[in-house]
Amino acid sequence: MKFETKAIRIQTDRSQHREHSTPIFPTSSFLFNDAEQMRQVFSGEEKGNIYSRFTNPSLREFEQKIIALEGVEEALATASGMAAVFASFLALLKSGDHIIASRAVFGSTYQVLSQNLQDLGIECTFVDPLYPDTWEDALTERTKMLYLETPSNPGLVIIDLEKAAAFCRKHNLLFNVDNCFATPYLQNPAAFGADIITHSATKYIDGQGRVLGGVVAGKKELLEKVYQFIRRTGASLSPFNAWVLSKSLETLALRMDRHCSNAHDLAKWLEKQPKVLKVNYPFLASHPQQAIAKKQMRLGGGIVTFEIAGGLSAGSAFLDRLKMLSLTANLGDSRSIASHPASTTHLRVPEAERFKIGITDGLIRISTGLEHIDDIIMDIKQALEA
Ligand SMILES: *Cc1c(COP(=O)(O)O)cnc(C)c1O
Repeated sequence: MKFETKAIRIQTDRSQHREHSTPIFPTSSFLFNDAEQMRQVFSGEEKGNIYSRFTNPSLREFEQKIIALEGVEEALATASGMAAVFASFLALLKSGDHIIASRAVFGSTYQVLSQNLQDLGIECTFVDPLYPDTWEDALTERTKMLYLETPSNPGLVIIDLEKAAAFCRKHNLLFNVDNCFATPYLQNPAAFGADIITHSATKYIDGQGRVLGGVVAGKKELLEKVYQFIRRTGASLSPFNAWVLSKSLETLALRMDRHCSNAHDLAKWLEKQPKVLKVNYPFLASHPQQAIAKKQMRLGGGIVTFEIAGGLSAGSAFLDRLKMLSLTANLGDSRSIASHPASTTHLRVPEAERFKIGITDGLIRISTGLEHIDDIIMDIKQALEA
């Protein structure tokens, strides 16, 4: 089956009513016929659901789809993207271990790596994602994992997954990739050698700004440890959110095609505007890693960033003049969203650090929605011209 068909046709449990669509199983626990069956399920001799912090059929349908769409052995749903990222670290690393991470990672991930893991005795060294040849300098005898995000949020840095996987094989490291921006439709890191893949399902997988959710996917033997961690610590997803996400996957391919064509058209239009100093989009010829992006991604993604002339004040003024695009913290929504990282998400990041990851004063991030491209461009045009 092709991607689109798997996203629709993979299903697990149905009730006695044989519903055509995906049912929801909003229950905290599951019944047993007798004490003996209860003993067998608890001991693992018989397969079965016990308690929804452990397993739930609504979660399993979502997980089964992710397994098929990412081309991995196992997947586990989590309460948010950060729950997935955190579980992937804590389940597989211990005090004394060392992790090498790309400097261009999501804000909360950066804080987890530099503060929470540090507090637990897991050291992190941040490396420049664009120069894999320099990563060896960060290695210690305690290095256990390489962690990266491609395309990165919000810098749209593209990292060569094949090269990164070769680095991990050579040095016997676990290779952990945040695949949130690409989604399983645009990029399958496991096909290039990733051992663990995380997603914030809150973004494109939901795609309509309704629920938080996340998923950890990858090799069975590693995911067994992640499962124990999630089950014990309570990072599990709610059945309702799993149902929303399972239904959302049915339209992921269609939506991503439109997100990407809108973003690509917007990027090409922005390149011609005099008040725009620079446009970043992975599939533009001007993107420094376009060739790598084309090698590992089906399409260029739904995010475009650009540098507006006039720096910080021009960036805020641009946001204030938008009439249709939403000013909100989410991305990957059906509604187009604009943000100005330097005055919001990265306000507290020192200037030098911000610049290193491409977040300049006038940088605007557009999460291109599913509205008609003419209306998206019209709004941005009037805000640029005012
Ligand atoms: C949003 C995001 C996360 C965190 O996901 P939540 O669902 O908000 O917890 C992680 N990585 C990337 C790249 C993101 O954009």
